[in-house]
Amino acid sequence: MIDYPLPTKVFYFCAKKLRCESMRVRITLSCGDCKQRNYNTKKNKKNDPDRLEMNKYCRFCRKHTVHKETK
Ligand SMILES: [Zn+2]
Repeated sequence: MIDYPLPTKVFYFCAKKLRCESMRVRITLSCGDCKQRNYNTKKNKKNDPDRLEMNKYCRFCRKHTVHKETK
């Protein structure tokens, strides 16, 4: 068994943790009609690799519209 010096161990631990957390990303949902950014949410890149589309209420259009993920 190889015993790494402590800083190396910590580095590996952080790298592993970062990779896990980078799968969850913050996204903004904007109205497909008026382009207003109405919702902030998070998604799991693993579960939703594509752009999210949700039917949500837009207070500017005053109706439910398709909201798409924007950067
Ligand atoms: Zn709208």
